[in-house]
Amino acid sequence: TTWQVTALTLFPEMFPGSLGCSLAGRALREGIWSMETQDLRNHGLGRHRNIDDTPFGGGAGMVMRPDVVSAALKDVDPAGRPVIYPTPRGRTLTQSDVRRYASGPGVVVLCGRYEGVDERVLEARDIEQVSIGDYILSGGEVAALVLLDACVRLLPGVMGSDSSATEESFSGGLLEYPHYTRPARWEGHDVPDVLLSGDHGAVARWRHEMAEMATRQRRPDLWAAYVARAGEDISRPVGVHAGVDRL
Ligand code: SAM
Repeated sequence: TTWQVTALTLFPEMFPGSLGCSLAGRALREGIWSMETQDLRNHGLGRHRNIDDTPFGGGAGMVMRPDVVSAALKDVDPAGRPVIYPTPRGRTLTQSDVRRYASGPGVVVLCGRYEGVDERVLEARDIEQVSIGDYILSGGEVAALVLLDACVRLLPGVMGSDSSATEESFSGGLLEYPHYTRPARWEGHDVPDVLLSGDHGAVARWRHEMAEMATRQRRPDLWAAYVARAGEDISRPVGVHAGVDRL
């Protein structure tokens, strides 16, 4: 079965965009997933096909009309798929959301422009509000592409090795360990000795310590959650690298 995507947008030409390239593009051509767009402009009102209006209560910008958005949604058969509205007002998208979306039949994504969509239609149509981070994009299309990219790479048959999907950052609650490849010496910088030792146990221990150190230093939020889960003390020294405060 094909993982189905419908994007409602004022800029259908932005899809599949970058997802037409590389592994996602091949998977699209192979039918592992499919992509259709609905041009919101087709549901605009009057001779000018207006889709937005000025905000009640005043203020800058324009707001996308609930009647227009609802008419566009009526033209889409969700077929069991969640309807997602990317917005900085949503809860932050995480890898566990991505896994949930990827394991379902697909998604419908409503892409906002201007100041966004009238709140009533979001509530009345049970639309999930999801943010891709604490910054403001000019529209929902790029946020939709981010969300779709993260989902598509998890679909069966898209990535070469299935272990690369489970071993990377966030699956264990830690950032990933750092990577090195040839040459073993580059501009006077050596690859850490342990990686050349052939001792798989030592490599695994070193990688785990490096993952812990990076998480503790860079992402105190993830570190606190990891430590709470492990039932450990947050001040516990981290492996042999305790005391090193820079990577
Ligand atoms: N006035 C809105 C606010 O401050 O929350 C921002 C509107 S933004 C200029 C236009 C559209 O871009 C939003 O409706 C949303 O669809 C999308 N967008 C912007 N930043 C986003 C983010 N961090 N995550 C997800 N979608 C975003």
